[in-house]
Amino acid sequence: MADLSTPLGKVVGQPSASPLAKHRGIHTVGDLLDFVPRRYVEPGKLTDLSSLVEGEEVTVVARVDRATTRPMRQRKGRMLNATITDGTRELDLTFFSAYGHEGRLVPGALGLFAGIVGRYQRTWQLTHPNYQIFDPEEEDEAVEEFLSRLIPIYLPAGKNMQTWKVRKVVQIVLASLGEVRDHVPPDVRKRRGLVDLISMYRLLHQPSTERDVSRARYRRKYDEAFTVQAVLAQRRIAGDGLRTTPRVPHAGGLVEAFDARMPFELTAGQQEVSAEIAKDLASEHPMHRLLQGEVGSGKTVVALRAMLSVIDSGGQAALLAPTEVLASQHFRSITSMLGDLAEGGLLGGSEIGTRVTLLTGSQPTGIRRKSLLEAASGDAGIVVGTHALIQEHVQFFDLGLVVVDEQHRFGVEQRDALRSKGKQPPHVLVMTATPIPRTVAMTVFGDMETSTLTELPKGRLPIASHVVSNPRWFQRTWERVAEEVRAGHQTYVVCPRIGDSDPDPDPDPDPDPDSERDSAPGATRADWSDEDVEVTFDVDESEPPPVRELRSVLEMEAELRDNPALAGLRIAILHGRMAADDKDKVMLAFAAGTIDVLVATTVIEVGVDVANATVMVIMDADRFGISQLHQLRGRIGRGTSPGLCLLVTETDSETVHERLISVAATNDGFTLARLDLEQRKEGDVLGARQSGGKSQLRLLRLLRDEDLILAAREDAFAIVDADPWLEQHPALRNVIASALDDEQAAYLERG
Ligand code: ADP
Ligand code: MG
Repeated sequence: MADLSTPLGKVVGQPSASPLAKHRGIHTVGDLLDFVPRRYVEPGKLTDLSSLVEGEEVTVVARVDRATTRPMRQRKGRMLNATITDGTRELDLTFFSAYGHEGRLVPGALGLFAGIVGRYQRTWQLTHPNYQIFDPEEEDEAVEEFLSRLIPIYLPAGKNMQTWKVRKVVQIVLASLGEVRDHVPPDVRKRRGLVDLISMYRLLHQPSTERDVSRARYRRKYDEAFTVQAVLAQRRIAGDGLRTTPRVPHAGGLVEAFDARMPFELTAGQQEVSAEIAKDLASEHPMHRLLQGEVGSGKTVVALRAMLSVIDSGGQAALLAPTEVLASQHFRSITSMLGDLAEGGLLGGSEIGTRVTLLTGSQPTGIRRKSLLEAASGDAGIVVGTHALIQEHVQFFDLGLVVVDEQHRFGVEQRDALRSKGKQPPHVLVMTATPIPRTVAMTVFGDMETSTLTELPKGRLPIASHVVSNPRWFQRTWERVAEEVRAGHQTYVVCPRIGDSDPDPDPDPDPDPDSERDSAPGATRADWSDEDVEVTFDVDESEPPPVRELRSVLEMEAELRDNPALAGLRIAILHGRMAADDKDKVMLAFAAGTIDVLVATTVIEVGVDVANATVMVIMDADRFGISQLHQLRGRIGRGTSPGLCLLVTETDSETVHERLISVAATNDGFTLARLDLEQRKEGDVLGARQSGGKSQLRLLRLLRDEDLILAAREDAFAIVDADPWLEQHPALRNVIASALDDEQAAYLERG
């Protein structure tokens, strides 16, 4: 008897198991049973040969009436022609190689046939159909079964493992399945109305009715949520088990001095969040907090105050940014916000002052060495850097706090790596400007506490956004830019490509697979998820490749220089393949106002803060995701003048156009985040690495299944709270272990 961990080959033989392993990553009985059918064909739709339509897929129960083979004229081998009948009408089958079919397609044999209907010389035919001949002894039962049951349709696993064969393999496996331990305890199943695990597998793969399918899918969704939540619950507990140094600012220290120098009042929200963080920092358990806040809500100040309290108590803080551009900018703005407080140890610096150091991958060796030294000696209270900070062997004297800016580019593993950086695990504050719907936050960051900044600082003016899709208005766009510049403001022009003959999107200086996919123009927005069980046949939903070349930074620069409307304007470019130094120079010049129009890729997406920039023109806006557009336009309207964002598109697609209209219509990040999520696959949203483990969410929909996620979270946390190491729940422990990769599992054990 097989169980879920039995290698598939042992049950069904290697020839069947290999293609499944190769094409679908299915290795065990459990993997196969978790291979959810894409859809089901209704029974009763099976036998009608009277309504064939060319080009459509047909599935019929029919009997072989006659079959002949003959040598082919052009090449070696024999072809086989057979005619099947449902008693009244006929359908021809053609196989270009008779091999393997001859013995089965004999007159009188009854079977199930499926293929795409073609027309050849006025007869209907199927070429190389899939088929399954019934055992002559059990014909009636077989027909009965096929007529009374939904037929699951699976994704094929390569050429030789069609959906039919997958179905057969699944049936063999189900028949040989022994006892299966259910990882959801009976009382939970009862409370939530869930079928047990083995019933779920049977209903999923051999359903009689739609109701069977939905009961199975419901249980399956619950499982997906339950497993993730159990992992998060364990992470939470592992984190609670860690000890660290409490960090409390002292009177007359940096925090006080900074507050006294701050040119504005903290908003009520900033004060509230600051208090939450201060409380966490004062605890001997490391903080693990997510700070959400709209673009421009003032997260940096909050983070800076937290960093200063850690320095006050003798520790250091690191601030991690996703790109070098952003790291440099943080470095500059923090240095300037601190003023003489950042000149600790220097003549003229404040007595209680500290030092801020920048550490990036592309610094010249000399500078880099100095930065490393300042980090290691503790002279630098604040070290600002990119991912390089955690990837390399950077030493800190006493790292007390790590702030991660713009979380959507950091995965769970990176958070774990951070925690192993200090002598003791540091406090961790993660900031994200992409508002995250509750269930997503619960799933992706469910092991963290969260704080949210909802209000923007007073006096912020809203950004007006417009879709520009009529070519007649394109020139007007540039005239508008020129007007804005004449009024003393600056403009960003964002393009999806660099244009230096390389088809790649802008490479991030600190490559991270998630972020690269995120910013890849034309990322597969079209493969939207399907929630309901469909009873139709597959269509290829992939978006046809764009015919037109996307606008590039280099072309755009040339074009704008030639545009009479922009004559005399100072135009510069910025993209990821420029040297770090050059990028810095450009950003500095833009910040200083000596560049009027900055033509850039999405390197400017996060955090860049130039208050005088009021216009953003986004070329081929349809190539960017919703959240990305919102992030991008967050770069403008930061000062006291209203912002204007123009979404330029040449798309023909009405859906895409509507998407842009919705971005233009609201500045509410939460609304947009939901919209974005609705249009993407969950896997995309979470990233395989962010979903809490290898196991992918296949059926769970983070927006629609909110109730179920809440229930699963409650159940999982209750179980883990009562039994942190799951000693009473070995089946659940196994499921979690196989869902995690080794590194993540090691993290849980360390805790
Ligand atoms: P984000 O949350 O997007 O990171 P920032 O921290 O960059 O936002 O803040 C955006 C701008 O708002 C900065 O120029 C910052 O100095 C300013 N700011 C932050 N807090 C306040 C406040 N309470 N009042 C006025 N301006 C503020
Ligand atoms: Mg920011």
